Amino acid sequence: MNNKLLFLLAACFFSATTAVAQEKEIDPKLTEVYEPVPPKVKPGKTNSDAPSDAIILFDGKNLDEWQSVNDSTKPALWTVKKGAVTVKKGTGNIQTKRKFTDYQLHIEWKIPADITGSGQARGNSGVFLASTGPGDEGYEIQVLDCYDNTTYVNGQTGSIYKQTIPLANVCKKPGEWQSYDIIWTAPRFNADGTVKTPGHITAMQNGVLVQNNTEIKGVTVYRGKPYYKKHGAAPIKLQDHGDPSEPISYRNIWVREL
Ligand code: MG
Repeated sequence: MNNKLLFLLAACFFSATTAVAQEKEIDPKLTEVYEPVPPKVKPGKTNSDAPSDAIILFDGKNLDEWQSVNDSTKPALWTVKKGAVTVKKGTGNIQTKRKFTDYQLHIEWKIPADITGSGQARGNSGVFLASTGPGDEGYEIQVLDCYDNTTYVNGQTGSIYKQTIPLANVCKKPGEWQSYDIIWTAPRFNADGTVKTPGHITAMQNGVLVQNNTEIKGVTVYRGKPYYKKHGAAPIKLQDHGDPSEPISYRNIWVREL
């Protein structure tokens, strides 16, 4: 062994023993964090039950938390029956009276067992994560019957409509209740209206991941490319798509602001 190699080995040994010695001297408390204390939240019996800090948007009884999108002075006109709210065709979209920024949302939905039609005209509705304006303005995660129904994949259930294909098709048969659990991070804008950070969505359909921290490219548009326009806190909106066979029902809707 030559002198150079011997020196290198000695240097390595010395620095390793020094590092161990230094590690032993570090107070472990220096890396223990005690504040802020995360709030205690009692979970529900199942994932679908609202936890203690949720805002209940629909508990099966009334639409007090909702209003018509066509006329915000009017109540939501969809039909409440047997613990569910069903789209009343032609009355337009409904949206929450409250406005939200970042949130966790649980919502259950059902396509009628006797659904007819095909493609996009088969149980079409949708959850707009932020209503940025009238009609269908906003960011839509699609609701559609895709159990045995083919359509463009970036428009199927679980897609961010015309933007991002879902990671899986988790559709149950028409007539069965299904769920979305969504984590929404709203976009942020600079004072001049340009995007500071885009919106992001993580979503599970029936407990299975369909969108994994997906970057939102802008508001949902039917024709052309999505684009952003500046907005702040916004309502959550549900779609009356207007198809002949569309009486989609929703139930058990709750949200936790983040
Ligand atoms: Mg839709």
